This record gives sequence, C-alpha cells and structure tokens, in this order.
Amino acid sequence: MSNDSDTPADLRHVSDEEWRQRLSPAEYSVLRQAGTEHPFTGEYWDEETEGVYACRACGAELFRSQEKFDAQCGWPSFFAPLAEDRVEYIEDSSLGMRRIEVRCANCASHMGHVFQGEGFPTPTDLRYCINSVSLRLEPATSARGNTDSQIS
Ligand SMILES: [Zn+2]
Repeated sequence: MSNDSDTPADLRHVSDEEWRQRLSPAEYSVLRQAGTEHPFTGEYWDEETEGVYACRACGAELFRSQEKFDAQCGWPSFFAPLAEDRVEYIEDSSLGMRRIEVRCANCASHMGHVFQGEGFPTPTDLRYCINSVSLRLEPATSARGNTDSQIS
C-alpha cells in the first residue's frame, strides 16, 4: 500500500515490454496507449469514498476525493489535481479536436483529459476527466496518520 515517506520510483524509462508485464491488458491500453474506458463502466465514476487516487501504473498520488465531483459523464471527474506538479499536460489533436491530455508526471502514463469552461459549479471550472482504470483509490481510513485532514 502507500507509503508517503517513499517517493515513487522514476518510471519514465520503463520499457514498453515491461509495462505489458506490469499491467493488465485493460490497464495497459489506457495507461500506455492513451485508450479510454467506456463511460459508466469504471470502478470509480460514482465512487464517493474519501481518500487519495494514485496512479495505477506507478503509485504517485494524483487526485483526492475532496476535488472529485459528480459530472454525470461516466468517468471520475476532478476539478483540480492533488498538486499541479503531479500531472503534466500534453496537447492532443487526435479525433479532430483540440484537447488537453493529462498524464502522470511521474511515469508519463495516460490519465485522461482536462476540459475547461463547461460551467460546472466548481472552484476552477475545470473537469479532469480521468479513466478509473488509470487510478487506484487509497481510502482515507487505511492511510497512516492523516496529519492534514482538511475536509471542509
Ligand atoms: Zn504514474
């Protein structure tokens, strides 16, 4: 499980072959091939448990339940990452649209996309639309010594 005294290893140089061994086929197709799971099928789209969502490929903590909101889109949606340096943004013009891809900054695995200005009543007006299969929820109750429980 998570151990926040350890920084996750730098996994940017893991070979494609090794990713195939580390991940299930569904995880591999989303995380390493920028696939998208079908809406309303993932584990977390309607998950409300408090906790931290870590990258399923490398374990880096990327999102929190505090920033998760119900966007009715069928994917877990967040209005902000846990911290800006946890994710990186790549311009994606596949499918004939200009979108911003969100990746894990630690291992460069694909998380989903971020959309702006959709009018959701959130502090940022951003929607990080993230694949469940890219994340692993670490429920708050199992986290060791939560020093900063800042649930408002
Ligand atoms: Zn990662």
